[in-house]
Amino acid sequence: MKTTSYAVGLALLVPLWGLAQTNDDLVKGSANTGEVVNYGMGYNLQRFSTLTQINSGNVQKLVPVWNYSLDDNRSEESQPLVYKGVLYVTSHNATVAIDAKSGTQIWKAKLEYPADVPRVVCCGIINRGVAIYEGKLFRTTLDANVIALDAKTGKELWRQNAADYKVGFTMTMAPLVADGVVITGISGAEFGTRDFIDGWDPDTGKHLWRTYTVPEPTEAGGNTWSGDTWKFGGGSTWITGSFDPELHTLYWGVGNPGPFNAAVRPGDNLYTCSVLAMDPKTGKIKWHFQFSPNNPFDYDSVAEMVLATIDVKGKPTPVILNANRNGFFYVLDRNDGKLLAANPYVKVTWASGIDLATGRPIETDVAKGARSGEKVTVFPSILGGKNWEPISYDPKTRLAYANTLLFGGHYKTTPAEYKAGEWYVGMDLSDLWEWGTGPRGELKAIDPMTGQTKWGVPSDIPRFSGVLSTAGGVVFSGRLTGEFEAFDAESGKKLWQFKAGSGIEGQPVTWEQDGVQYVAVTSGIGGVYSLFSGDERLASVPAGGSVWVFALQKS
Ligand code: CA
Repeated sequence: MKTTSYAVGLALLVPLWGLAQTNDDLVKGSANTGEVVNYGMGYNLQRFSTLTQINSGNVQKLVPVWNYSLDDNRSEESQPLVYKGVLYVTSHNATVAIDAKSGTQIWKAKLEYPADVPRVVCCGIINRGVAIYEGKLFRTTLDANVIALDAKTGKELWRQNAADYKVGFTMTMAPLVADGVVITGISGAEFGTRDFIDGWDPDTGKHLWRTYTVPEPTEAGGNTWSGDTWKFGGGSTWITGSFDPELHTLYWGVGNPGPFNAAVRPGDNLYTCSVLAMDPKTGKIKWHFQFSPNNPFDYDSVAEMVLATIDVKGKPTPVILNANRNGFFYVLDRNDGKLLAANPYVKVTWASGIDLATGRPIETDVAKGARSGEKVTVFPSILGGKNWEPISYDPKTRLAYANTLLFGGHYKTTPAEYKAGEWYVGMDLSDLWEWGTGPRGELKAIDPMTGQTKWGVPSDIPRFSGVLSTAGGVVFSGRLTGEFEAFDAESGKKLWQFKAGSGIEGQPVTWEQDGVQYVAVTSGIGGVYSLFSGDERLASVPAGGSVWVFALQKS
């Protein structure tokens, strides 16, 4: 009896000591200026900080505090987390804990991959970061494993395989912990996989649920696929969702249908190119909204679903903001998915608008021609009006800051034949781009309800970095040529830049520690534009992953 109660007492105490990160901490993450505990700097994915020590009047005095080599020549897209003075960041083959003030490594946990892993990765050898919860870190791997690590030591606590990498499944996204469940998506739609979202037990790794993004014929939405096409239907879920803790609802974007050649799969192809509102405990779909039915153009709708409260017809309304890859900026009511606004934020030629009553695009001859096998020029290109690089929403200026893509593409279908582990797209990939003569990218400040650009900062080579905005009136982003930049949030005026040793496509974050505001970002070139654009101007940008941390120069 005595032994039992002693054991029970100890069992109760140990979790209390070990509670390095609670559900409440994650819920309050967007207001916690001393730490960065969520991907997206909050469950709302706004990437906005109320900190003002660094502001539009003094950002010129920003200087590097430390630089940490990731000892990796791949693309670095990881968003750092910061908890109790420790910065956690990932590369494709390691997770590291670094003292956030000094830049000194605390531990490094390396990953080993099978030799054939790069062959089955679509669009970059990368990882986008960790989730933290109750003393554990959670990350994904290129060979489709989900791993839990001890945040103090880096020791691996559990590992679960989500799917077979040999047929094209990959994981690059940062997991999300919501209502005590570790949630992960999957990549692989370019390989004819049938994709899903998973829930895992944070303590044991037990698989709790799986929700397929492509339903079976007998399930709801199954009638939007013909024959066996659903088995190869794609719908990957490769960017971390947002979470409304009051509604207990996840908002997770779903990628393109497979193959790109839409004639192969007549129907709307639910739930590809959609957002799913889900219960994090069960994976049950509460509602869905489809942006691009029967999409031919690889318009993954995985771009982050930013949660905000904005005025709609004079009434504060909880919404989802989404700069969709299809070129339209959407505002949805996050209670029920009702469409409130959808306006182009870049040049769009495949649709002339979105029907607000039905939510469906009003397609042009470009989309119809593409489906019938004609060679067409389409805006946006298959990389979209914006690709994966996350936007920031500033509730003070009420603007969304997005690294947009200004170029179009050429599209021509080819026959698609499924072969396990091979690309399954059914598209001529030999002549992809319609560059035009002007800048290929523009950092834009967008009014969500109109899609109108308040200001824009063009760049010849498009930016592929995340965006961060602050109450100090500063917007941070980076260039593939290595410049980390700061802009005035109201005017877009460039205020500062620092040249890092390699291209920047990381996700900047900020926090305050011992009275000092820091900004961190990863540097390291690679990723989808570098791989597929053939842009020779990037040939002189050296590889070499590292983490940069900045603060104001001490006077
Ligand atoms: Ca895709």
